[in-house]
Amino acid sequence: RMDLVRKRVHTFVRVKPTADFAQDMVKFGPDNKRIEICLKKDAKKEAMNSRQTSWSFKMDGVLHNTSQEQVYETVAKKLVSEALIGYNGTIMCYGQTGAGKTYTMMGTTADYKHRGIIPRAIQQVFKATAQSIDPLITIRISYLEIYNETLFDLLSTVTSDGSSAMQMTIVDCPEGVYVKGLSIHTVSFEEDALSLLFEGESKRVIAEHALNKHSSRSHCIFTIYIESRFRFFSDVKCVNSKINLIDLAGSERLSKSGSEGQLLKEATYINKSLSFLEQVVTALADPKRDHISFRQSKLTYVLKDSLGKSCASQQPLTVPSSKVIT
Ligand code: ADP
Ligand code: MG
Repeated sequence: RMDLVRKRVHTFVRVKPTADFAQDMVKFGPDNKRIEICLKKDAKKEAMNSRQTSWSFKMDGVLHNTSQEQVYETVAKKLVSEALIGYNGTIMCYGQTGAGKTYTMMGTTADYKHRGIIPRAIQQVFKATAQSIDPLITIRISYLEIYNETLFDLLSTVTSDGSSAMQMTIVDCPEGVYVKGLSIHTVSFEEDALSLLFEGESKRVIAEHALNKHSSRSHCIFTIYIESRFRFFSDVKCVNSKINLIDLAGSERLSKSGSEGQLLKEATYINKSLSFLEQVVTALADPKRDHISFRQSKLTYVLKDSLGKSCASQQPLTVPSSKVIT
């Protein structure tokens, strides 16, 4: 934690449980805040003496053999409750295709226990709404997809015959950043929000891919907008905040995935936007940096008011936060 006013990015690593987990190469620190990766001897030989064979990474937590519920408690619960009092927050999943990003954000629909961060966040928000008399809370939802640096509305109500393909643009105004042309849906019940989520999910751009046949080639941003209207006990009339829940496109290397043609073009866009995201996150972590170029990519531009120090909306009350799960 840098200090109490300035927010910072929290990073967690979730390890996908596999039968052949490389126990001898990957070690977790005793406090679960460090990962050591050490290449095995034969791999070392290959790498020659000149190359690095061990790495150590520090983070806010390692989520190993962690249930969906524990993941939610650790990375999302506080951020969602802070959003309910006026802070913008962002949770995003970064990692290779197959690493478990969609599992973490969406979860599986077959088992309620395995639902991910987005349905749980929706539930938490609606629980809070039901209990609240003042302020009166209005919940809205949008689902934006960024594919090859082009914006798509996953909840567009207009038919997809092409005629309605209105160009969406990102607008940065004093009230915050918004996407002009993106449909925002008012939802009164948890079930309505969930059905919009699943409707949008089914429209995502998906391509066949060497690493995962359901590889997603786009960044998807599910946003919950919270508007709190005070009627009695406050000088403030209205507080707005939003939670961005992001399933990033896979971060695979071009050579490994054997991509060509359209897939190569997609991978190039993905890698470019992920490296701009990395630059922004790195810059946010550096207290000496004052200028950060959010406009380099659609992804970072859309998130401009929801990442790092700029995320407090009108009435900052406590420390807001953003989380990255890798
Ligand atoms: P990504 O979205 O990163 O490409 P997925 O979320 O689709 O990866 O995960 C790939 C597969 O692994 C899916 O079948 C998913 O259900 C499974 N999976 C991922 N993470 C876990 C986990 N922590 N526990 C159990 N199964 C998982
Ligand atoms: Mg996925």
